[in-house]
Amino acid sequence: MIEIKNLTKKYGEQVAVDNISLSINRGEILGFLGPNGAGKTTTLRVIACYMPATLGSVSVAGYDVYQSSLQVKEKIGYLPETNPLYSEMGVIEYLYFIAKLRNIPSGKIKASVRKIVELCALGGVIRKNIGELSRGFKQRVGLAQAIIHNPPVLILDEPTLGLDPNQIVEIRDLIKRLGKEKTVILSSHILSEVQATCDRVVIINKGKIVADGKKEELQSMIKGREKIYLRLKGKESRAVVDFFGSKKDIFNVAIKEEGIDSVEYELEIDKGVDLREEVFHWTVKNKWVILEMIPKKISLEDVFRRLTIEGDKE
Ligand code: ATP
Repeated sequence: MIEIKNLTKKYGEQVAVDNISLSINRGEILGFLGPNGAGKTTTLRVIACYMPATLGSVSVAGYDVYQSSLQVKEKIGYLPETNPLYSEMGVIEYLYFIAKLRNIPSGKIKASVRKIVELCALGGVIRKNIGELSRGFKQRVGLAQAIIHNPPVLILDEPTLGLDPNQIVEIRDLIKRLGKEKTVILSSHILSEVQATCDRVVIINKGKIVADGKKEELQSMIKGREKIYLRLKGKESRAVVDFFGSKKDIFNVAIKEEGIDSVEYELEIDKGVDLREEVFHWTVKNKWVILEMIPKKISLEDVFRRLTIEGDKE
């Protein structure tokens, strides 16, 4: 649906996007993740025909963004980082205005606006001025303007920025619902955002793609060990450390924290190995009492940090 080939974008001497290639399939919800200044907004602006590439090409549904920008704009709904709203306009007035701009035939405008008001749950605010709305509702109006012409592709630049936790959940649900029918690119620097909404994750850092895959695939890219945090009742016992230390799947045992009547141990194990059941049986056999057992897997956050922070040091 979207083909990006060797895209480079420079602002003067500053390289914002550095020779990236990416193919996004129909129906995918792709999370475009990267730290501030990584090049996310710039890439999205090129896809949405807001600015030309310096080098390389981008096409949407077979149309080149440079040569056929009108066709591309018909296929795309774009919610930029700063929501393009006129605060002095009424919500309903604004939606009619956008519907006309989007060339929706006059006989269908009313039905399109009604549908979008329902989809974006704007029924309670249609008579208000945009300037009076909360940030969450403004964002819903922004989404409504992006999809009023029912485009197959949605490009959302940091769609939950500045929203409170309840508003974030509502907007995420809406995006997921939209993602059932559309190809969606969602940029964010917030991991939980991408984790909750997207099927596939592309990580960009300093203008280059440093990872691309399903969430689980990215987690398995990172070498390293997982851990089990185990809290046992009683005082620190050398016997516990020696016992777990003698097991072949446990590489290291450390005492993490000594409480008044319990001790937390950290067991290092191979990635992908689930030892919880064995640990349970071993402790029962030794008559130790488990108060807590928490497996700590390699998270998407570990992947992100490794690729965008530790990668910078190398
Ligand atoms: P953020 O999450 O902070 O919005 P981003 O990943 O979207 O970051 P971009 O906004 O695409 O990153 O910026 C990429 C690089 O290009 C940054 O170094 C930024 O300073 C630079 N840049 C962006 N826009 C311009 C501009 N109009 N003129 C000059 N440099 C720019």
